[in-house]
Amino acid sequence: MSHNLFDEFIVLTTSREEMLDITGEVRAFVRSTGIKDGICKVYVPHTTAAVTINENADPDVKSDILKGLEAIVPSDLAYQHAEGNSPAHIKTSIMGSSEEIIISGEDLVLGTWQGIYFCEFDGPRTRKFFVKILEG
Ligand code: ZN
Repeated sequence: MSHNLFDEFIVLTTSREEMLDITGEVRAFVRSTGIKDGICKVYVPHTTAAVTINENADPDVKSDILKGLEAIVPSDLAYQHAEGNSPAHIKTSIMGSSEEIIISGEDLVLGTWQGIYFCEFDGPRTRKFFVKILEG
């Protein structure tokens, strides 16, 4: 029996900045493979969108993260990048382009309050992310 251990997912963002919970899609894909143990890599192939793992219970955490990033990365610096979206590039590098989640018992190993978030910093746009599973 062969498994498809790689897939591409489309994300439609609706705001300039937002954090979208993609845990369900990633979990469903992992379960569909039947892989019992391994590593699940989630990768975002964009320069102004990222992926992170954080709390999925209180939605205020998401808005506070965006608020905190806004404080760390001022929008009114004398940026030179002509496209005008340097803060989005910087926030993307802070958050990162990939996450690795352990797979055990045919499921993602996440803490009770953890979710996987696609982070949009220059939306709204049609975006994508990749999921690759390494068995072992
Ligand atoms: Zn740019």
